[in-house]
Amino acid sequence: QFIVFEGIEGGGKSSQMAKTAQWLSQGGLGKPVEVLQTREPGGTELGQKLRSLLLSDHSLDLNYRSELLLYAADRAQHVKEVLKPALEEGKIILCDRYIHSTTAYQGYGRGLDLKLIQQLNAIASDGLESDLTLWLDVAIETGLERVKKRGKRDRLEKADIAFHQRVRQGYEDLANQFPQQILRIDANQNEPAVQSQIQTQLKRLVIS
Ligand code: C5P
Repeated sequence: QFIVFEGIEGGGKSSQMAKTAQWLSQGGLGKPVEVLQTREPGGTELGQKLRSLLLSDHSLDLNYRSELLLYAADRAQHVKEVLKPALEEGKIILCDRYIHSTTAYQGYGRGLDLKLIQQLNAIASDGLESDLTLWLDVAIETGLERVKKRGKRDRLEKADIAFHQRVRQGYEDLANQFPQQILRIDANQNEPAVQSQIQTQLKRLVIS
């Protein structure tokens, strides 16, 4: 099973994913399962380098198309090197961001053509889709406030509220478009309450 965590910054993706991994590997769904935690960008050695170019190298003036293609390269490597092999080994994958991030950030956020992004997502993912995407939906102000507290600094720190609003709208549109695959989790609540919503959703998934 391939489960993806999505959403704007400050929704608690990473910590919720870690808690979910612990719960699953300790038998939360009835029996202990082997869980692989990974993320995009940065789930491979190439991906680590791309992540640092994309997010931390402030000397680069990346145009939106180059940015899009670097995220795609990260994904192509990740799918081949990590995701497909893990699925073949029967592991449960928890992945921090996947194709919907590209639609939300580069499509809705940056304004690149959504059709083009859809085609590129298909190429980069080699057709691999997630079984379930959990969209951790947090109010923009709350999310940005949490990020500020963490002191996180990356390329998007200067992005304006309108950018984050467009990205959030992207997730909302995607969730409406694919109601079976993308489930909204109310990430405005406190950590235990969010985790409990996630566990409730996962219990509905039949683990084969
Ligand atoms: O959530 P995480 O810390 O992994 O996000 C890393 C950064 O990459 C965030 O600032 C996020 O907004 C950005 N990002 C992006 N486009 C993507 C994926 C992530 O701008 N397709």
